[in-house]
Order: sequence, then C-alpha cells, then structure tokens
Amino acid sequence: MAALFRLFSPPPVITAFQPIHFPLPLFSSPKIDTNSRKFRHRISVSKFGNFLDLNPESKPDFLDFDLPCFHSSDRSLFDVIVIGTGPAGARLAEQLSTRGIKVCCVDPSPLSMWPNNYGAWVDELHSLGLDDCFDRIWPLCSVFIDDSNIKFLRRPYGRVSRKKLKTKLIENCVVNGVKFHKAKVWRVDHKEFESCVVCDDGNEIRGSLVVDASGFGSTFIEYDKPRNCGYQIAHGILAEVETHPFDLDKMVFMDWRDSHLGNEPYLRASNSRFPTFFCMLCHLPQT
Ligand SMILES: Cc1cc2nc3c(=O)[nH]c(=O)nc-3n(C[C@H](O)[C@H](O)[C@H](O)COP(=O)(O)OP(=O)(O)OC[C@H]3O[C@@H](n4cnc5c(N)ncnc54)[C@H](O)[C@@H]3O)c2cc1C
Repeated sequence: MAALFRLFSPPPVITAFQPIHFPLPLFSSPKIDTNSRKFRHRISVSKFGNFLDLNPESKPDFLDFDLPCFHSSDRSLFDVIVIGTGPAGARLAEQLSTRGIKVCCVDPSPLSMWPNNYGAWVDELHSLGLDDCFDRIWPLCSVFIDDSNIKFLRRPYGRVSRKKLKTKLIENCVVNGVKFHKAKVWRVDHKEFESCVVCDDGNEIRGSLVVDASGFGSTFIEYDKPRNCGYQIAHGILAEVETHPFDLDKMVFMDWRDSHLGNEPYLRASNSRFPTFFCMLCHLPQT
C-alpha cells in the first residue's frame, strides 16, 4: 500500500523544512512500514518533519523507444526547435508535428521518466484527449479549511501516470517525424532569418523558431528588468505505509490546518507569514 504526499508552498524560506501535515485531529497517525521494499531508511515517526530528511533512492527509469535522431550532417532548417522534453516540451512537439510542422526536440535525456508525480483535474486532461493517462482517479476531493471545516469538491481528480503520458506524447512525436537530439543546449544564437541552438556536444541545430521548454530554471530567456516572479515549492514523497487514516474515495486536495504546529511556535509564526497552501495526499492501490 502506498500513499503519495505532495506539499506546495509559495516562498522557499521555510518550506524546505516544513513538516508533512497529516490530519492528526481527525485520524490516528499512519504507521510507516520501514521494512518495506521501497522504504529502507531508518526513520522515526514521532516527528512528521522527518519525512523531509529522507534521501530517497531514485532509480532512473527510461522509456523503451527507438527515437529518430538528429544527425550532425543534417544542415536543414527545422520549423521549430523545442528545448526540453518535459511535459510542456513533449506536448508542444507532439501538437506541432501533428500539424505537419517540422520539429526537433533537444534534451540531455529525452527518454528518461519525468521525476515528478503529477495530479490533474480529470476534465482538464479529458479536454486535451489525455484522459487515458491517469493511473488513479478520485471522484471527490476534500479541502480542509481548518480543524472544523471541510469542503468536498465534486470534481474528479486524478494521479497522472508519468509513463502513460510520456509514452503517448513521444509515440505521437515519433509517428509524426519529430527528430530528437540528446544533448544539453548551451546557448541560442538569433540571426536575421533563423536561430541556431548550440549544444554541449558541439552540434548546432538551425530552426526558424526556438521554444524554450527547459523548465523554471531556464537560462535562455532574457528579461529587461530584474526577474521577481512568484513561485512555489513542491515536495513529492511516495511512502509505503502499513495502515493509513484516509478515505479511499477522496483525495485530500488542500489542507490549511495548522493545529499540529501547536508546540512549534517558530513554525507557526513562519506558517502564518508564508502559509503552506496546498497538499495533495492520496492513497495509491497496492501494487
Ligand atoms: C513534486 C512535484 C510535483 C508537481 N506536481 C505538479 C502537478 O501535479 N501539476 C502541475 O501542473 N505541476 C506540478 N509540478 C510542477 C511541475 O514541475 C511542472 O508543472 C512541470 O514539470 C513543468 O513541465 P515543463 O515541461 O515546463 O518543465 P520540466 O518538467 O522542468 O522539464 C524541463 C525539461 O527540460 C530539460 N532541460 C533543462 N535544461 C535544458 C537544456 N539546457 N537543454 C536541453 N534540455 C534541457 C530537462 O532535462 C527536462 O526534461 C510539480 C513539481 C514537483 C517538483
């Protein structure tokens, strides 16, 4: 049995150390199966914050595809070069290539599985034709406003299957003739009628348009003012537990309660300044 805990919070100042919040007032605490296959870390459950001290053993996972590769001898001009094959880049490449646009995707590891656990509203992925890419759907979501207020959202929410989603997008890209180049982009040079993507392996790829889908840490976008955007931090923890206090028909979508911080005045003060505002907590079926 496994449970996925995700916690979003806006500024980074305190959140990296924010304890994962279990709904203590309503339920008994979950027991962590420390002997399980996935959890081989010595942890104490007396403080939930210890979840964040875990150093998960991540096992790289790859899709099994023969990708059509860009060849350095190919001097032709792509219509669009997409930097990054995360969810944004892969979907963009898929959609452009479906419309006959000649696309090249550049990513250091285009076949590696995305690291994050994603969740989405079922109707949203449905409208994108991607509703076969969930591996678990909850018909109801709960939102804990405080210890005595719970709201239920009658809008199905699902856990995205990274494997199904990435497989579907890359498969469509391959069918539509997208070329892939396994490298990191170093810089983008813009000329009058084309742009040139310079990669860390020395290759240069020419395109009419370059789309930066390299994620939030992009170094390719230039700003005319110092960048001061809002952002959030997400922690994803997949824990295997012996028992759990959750209702299997509902996903805890948001949990604003902070009564568990009663003995931690420092955390409580920080929390009211930069509240932890989002928590996705769900039960995954036994595998
Ligand atoms: C634990 C966790 C849970 C999350 N859950 C959700 C969720 O439920 N829903 C949601 O909408 N968002 C969620 N997010 C936010 C999530 O990160 C983004 O929504 C999503 O990953 C953004 O996709 P992307 O394709 O823009 O960027 P990324 O996923 O960051 O992909 C960027 C890609 O670009 C590649 N790249 C980077 N630099 C270069 C370079 N120089 N050259 C070539 N390639 C490069 C990287 O290798 C990577 O493959 C979550 C984040 C975390 C950490």
